[in-house]
Amino acid sequence: MLVVMNSRTTDCEINEVEKQLKDFGLGVQRSHGKNRFILRISGDCGLETTTVVKTIPYVEKVIFPSYPFEMVSRDYQEEKTVFKVGEVEIGAEKAVIMAGPCAVEGRESYLRAAEAVKEAGAHILRGGAYKPRSSPYAFQGLEEEGLKIMAEARSMTGLPIITEVLDQYSVEIVADYADILQVGTRNMQNFKLLRELGQVGKPVLIKRGMSATIEEWLMAAEYLLSEGNDKVILCERGIRTFETYTRNTLDISAVPIAKELSHLPVFVDPSHGTGLWKCVHPMSMAAIAAGADGLLVEVHPSPKEALCDGPQSLLPDKFALMLNSLKKVAEIIGRTL
Ligand code: PEP
Ligand code: MN
Repeated sequence: MLVVMNSRTTDCEINEVEKQLKDFGLGVQRSHGKNRFILRISGDCGLETTTVVKTIPYVEKVIFPSYPFEMVSRDYQEEKTVFKVGEVEIGAEKAVIMAGPCAVEGRESYLRAAEAVKEAGAHILRGGAYKPRSSPYAFQGLEEEGLKIMAEARSMTGLPIITEVLDQYSVEIVADYADILQVGTRNMQNFKLLRELGQVGKPVLIKRGMSATIEEWLMAAEYLLSEGNDKVILCERGIRTFETYTRNTLDISAVPIAKELSHLPVFVDPSHGTGLWKCVHPMSMAAIAAGADGLLVEVHPSPKEALCDGPQSLLPDKFALMLNSLKKVAEIIGRTL
């Protein structure tokens, strides 16, 4: 059983509720999310107990999870989740474009890229400071120096920044700089990291694991919500199939399915989804047409020189052209960009 507390509940009041629940002989585990307080209850949660629990002041609702991703589901919350990151509204009618290079490679090049994607019409800047590379010999990112460069780009452009957090030990430092924390495909089931991020008080974008089913992806997001973070974005980024021509197979059908099953905003990453810059424009149009709430796109001023993911990175002028086509697609389905 989950006991969801009113968002304005104080620590003192939570202690009081916890004590009452323990007096019923129930086990209580607390989730200290910044947005929400949740108590996970174990023990005999019979009708009599739950009827009393529901009457405790400060208790907003009592839930018996019927899905393995209860709080993520549409049954839990029928209306779409919409939240703001700076001035940017996520999950609303206007589709949101996050763009920038795969990795922050240096100050000059990142600031140049940030200016270019802003100029083209991006709403949020992306960049990796801690890179999850398949080879230990590949460029691993500039770490905190990279975060500082991204923060400078934010001041320069006025756009919020999104960057990946690799493990639970670096959540604090990444959260100090970033506006949105990204969980990469390789970490989708790093449950310790997810629990930590559930309590961070900043929005989290969670990519689908490259071999994860949609249900596993939603259960991973449930870790974030069940710890109290309700500002979560789902991001489809391609899955492993037998096809080798593309880096991954972008599962566009995951968009309408995830949106039907969940109230969370659903984004698409056409860059990692295909690995080929030529596929990024058509797949972005397909994603918006399928109802995606936004895109995460790799753009690099000089893809041939990129230290990471050059072959899937768009040149800024191609990115600008793509946004023009996306406006038309968005219009057809009654959205804006
Ligand atoms: C990225 O966005 O830079 C990245 C590493 O993505 P993924 O986790 O989807 O591979
Ligand atoms: Mn990349």
